[in-house]
Amino acid sequence: MSGSTARLQAIDAVKRHQAPAEIFSTADAPGEIFGENVFTKTVMQKRLPKLVYKSLLGTIDHSKPLDPVVADIVASAMKDWAIEKGATHYAHVFYPLTGLTAEKHDSFLEPDATGASIAEFAGKTLIQGEPDASSFPNGGLRATFEARGYTGWDATSPAYILENPNGNTLCIPTVFVSMTGEALDYKTPLLRSQQAMAVQAERVLRLFGHEDPDAVVSFAGAEQEYFLIDRSFFLSRPDLLASGRTLFGAKPPKGQEFDDHYFGAIPDRVLAFMLDAERELFKLGIPAKTRHNEVAPGQFELAPMFERANVAADHQQLLMVILKKVAQKHGMECIFHEKPFAGINGSGKHVNFSLGNSTEGNLLLPGDTPHDNAQFLVFCGAVIRAVHKFGGLLRASVASATNDHRLGANEAPPAIISIFLGDQLTDVFDQIAKGGATSSKEKGTLIIGVDTLPELPTDPGDRNRTSPFAFTGNRFEFRAPGSLQSIAGPMVTVNTILAEALDYIACAIEASIAEGAEFNVAVQKILEEIITVHGAVVFNGDGYSEDWQIEAEARGLPNLRTTVDALPELITEEAQALFEHYGVFSHREMHSRYEIGLEQYALSVGVEARSTLEIATTSILPAALRYQTELATNAAAMKAIGYEFDTSTLDELSSATKALQLALGGLREELSHGHPETVDAEAKHACDDHIPAMAAVRDAADVLEGLVADDLWPLATYQEMLFIL
Ligand code: ADP
Ligand code: MG
Repeated sequence: MSGSTARLQAIDAVKRHQAPAEIFSTADAPGEIFGENVFTKTVMQKRLPKLVYKSLLGTIDHSKPLDPVVADIVASAMKDWAIEKGATHYAHVFYPLTGLTAEKHDSFLEPDATGASIAEFAGKTLIQGEPDASSFPNGGLRATFEARGYTGWDATSPAYILENPNGNTLCIPTVFVSMTGEALDYKTPLLRSQQAMAVQAERVLRLFGHEDPDAVVSFAGAEQEYFLIDRSFFLSRPDLLASGRTLFGAKPPKGQEFDDHYFGAIPDRVLAFMLDAERELFKLGIPAKTRHNEVAPGQFELAPMFERANVAADHQQLLMVILKKVAQKHGMECIFHEKPFAGINGSGKHVNFSLGNSTEGNLLLPGDTPHDNAQFLVFCGAVIRAVHKFGGLLRASVASATNDHRLGANEAPPAIISIFLGDQLTDVFDQIAKGGATSSKEKGTLIIGVDTLPELPTDPGDRNRTSPFAFTGNRFEFRAPGSLQSIAGPMVTVNTILAEALDYIACAIEASIAEGAEFNVAVQKILEEIITVHGAVVFNGDGYSEDWQIEAEARGLPNLRTTVDALPELITEEAQALFEHYGVFSHREMHSRYEIGLEQYALSVGVEARSTLEIATTSILPAALRYQTELATNAAAMKAIGYEFDTSTLDELSSATKALQLALGGLREELSHGHPETVDAEAKHACDDHIPAMAAVRDAADVLEGLVADDLWPLATYQEMLFIL
C-alpha cells in the first residue's frame, strides 16, 4: 500500500461529510439568549440584597475595594444561580503565560454522613483558589519546590456557565499570582495597568475642568482572524497537529491572487458554523458583531463589540475556545496560528482601543466643539508620545515565534511601529507644530481648535491597512497583535505607556500654569512639543514598501524583526523603570516575562524543527524514494525491451531527493547540539540555526511535491486544504 493513505482517506472523509442537524428555534433569537449563561448585573440585582448589589457595583464600575462580607453573599447567590442552571462544578479560570486559558474545577458536591450534599460555596471560595502552579511558566518567580499559586476573583469580569453535555461548570474569571503576590498571568498586570492609566487620565480630565471625573477605563474590541479547514485534513497533517501550521506545502496553482475570497459570499457550511458559534457566544454575553471572509481562501474574521479591556480580554480568550469547539462540531478545524500556510495571507488580531468614562464618553472621539477638540488632541498627543517613545515595547508585547511570520516578513503590518493619523488629523498636528500660525488668536478663545481646525470627522474616509497603529475615527487600531495571542499583553503595554504620556502631559501643563501661562497656552505648548519631538512616528504611507524600511531607519524608529530582537526591550533600564513606576510590573516580573517569552519561543521553534525532521524523514523522503524506484524500474523495463528512456524526470527527482537528504542532514545536525546554557542563547540558536535549517528542508520537500506522483504524496496539499470546504 502506498504512503499516501492518510491524505487520500482524508479526501474521502471530506467527501462524505454531513452537516450536523441544526434545530434553530425562535427561542434562540439573539435577543432571547444574549447573556443567558452569565451572572449579569440584571441577575445580581434580582438575587442580591440591595445594599450588597450596590456595594458590588461600586467595585465593578468605580474600582472600589471589594468588601469580604459582600463576597459571602454574592458567592451564595452565584452558587444557587449556577446550580439552577445545571452546574455541577465551579472553576477558577485564569490566564497563565502559556497564552492559553487554564481552569481548576471543583465540585459543588461534597460527601457527608448522609451521602453527597451541596457544599458550601463561601465568599472565600469565590475570592480565592489555590491551584498547583508548578506546571505553568513562571520565569524564575517561583522556586520549583514552592508550587503554590493563588487565583483571585476579578469581580469586574462576569462569571458565566460553560455548557458541556456532561454537566455545566460555573466559571469565575480570576487573577493568578504566586505566594509572594507576583503576577503569573495576563490579567493581573492588565488590571494594574488599567488602574495606572486611569489615575493619569483622570488627572488630565481634572485639568480640563472636570472636577470629579468618573473612573476612566480602557476599551478594547478585537478583530479575530482565523482559518477554517476540514477537520479530516487537519488530522491528516501531523505538522498542523503539532505546531498549528503547515511546515510543508508548495504554493497552490491558485492562491489568493484573485482576491475573490475577500468579502465574497460565505460558504453554507461556514455560515452554519458561524451561526452556531455566534449563538454560543451570545449565551455567554459575548457580543459577536461582524463576520466576513478575509483576504485568503479559507480565512474568516469575527469581531465582537468592544468592551472594557479587561472583560474584552477574557471574552476574547473564551471566544477562541468556543470557535474551536463549534468548528469541530461542524467537522472543521479552526486555526488561529498567525501563519498556517506559507505564501498565503496570515492572521492577526487587530486590537481597537479607546479610553473613556461614563461622563465624558470616549476620550478619543474628536468632538465638534473647540474645547472637546483640545481635550481630544491631548489624548491623541499622548498616544503619539507613547507609541514613539515606547515603540519597542509595543513590538515586544506582540512578539512570538508564530507572529514573527507576519511582522518580520513581507506582510501586514511591518515590525516597525508607526502611527497612521490620516490626512486630516496629520494636518491639524502640522498646524500645531507651526504654533505661530494660530497663536495670534484673540484672547479668550482657545488657541488650538478654533477656526484653524477643520471639523474633525468621526469616521474619516481614508484607511491604511499597512499601518500597525492606526487612528480610525474614534479609536486606535493596533494591528500587530497575532491571531493566536491574548490581547491582554498588548493592552498592558498600551495602558502603561499611555499612563506615562498622560502623566508627562499633566506635569507639563501644571508647570506652565505655575509659571503663569494660561491653560490654553499651556495645552498648545505641550502639544507643540509632542508633535515636534515625537512626530517622527507618524507615517501615513505604505508600510509594506522598501522605502519605508529605509526612511524609518533614518527617522530612528526601531525595526525589530524577530522575537529574539524584540524581547530585550522588556529589560532595558527605561522599560523596567517605567513599569515599576506605574506599579504594573516589578523588575523581577519584567525579567520573568522576558524569560518566559524566550522560553516559549525556543519551545515552539523546537517543536517545529523536530516535526519537520520527523515528517520529512518518515513521510516525504519515503514517498520520493518510492517514486524514484518506480521510475528506475520503469527505466529498466523500457531498456529491456529496447526503448530509449528519457532520464530527465528521474534526474530531476533524484537531485531533489538528494537536496532533501542534505537538508535533513543539516537539520539533524542542528538538533543534535546540546541545549545552550541560557534561555537567551537557546532562543538565539532556535532563531539563527533551527529556522534556516528547517527552511532548507521545506524548500527541498516543496520541490518534491511538484515531482512525486500524486498518489504517492503523503500530505494534503494547500489546494485541497484551502479550497475544499
Ligand atoms: P474594521 O474591519 O473596519 O476595522 P470591524 O467592524 O471589523 O472594523 O471591527 C472594529 C472593532 O472595533 C470592533 O470590535 C468594534 O467593537 C471596535 N470598536 C469600535 N469602536 C470602538 C471604540 N471606541 N473603542 C474600542 N473599540 C472600538
Ligand atoms: Mg480592522
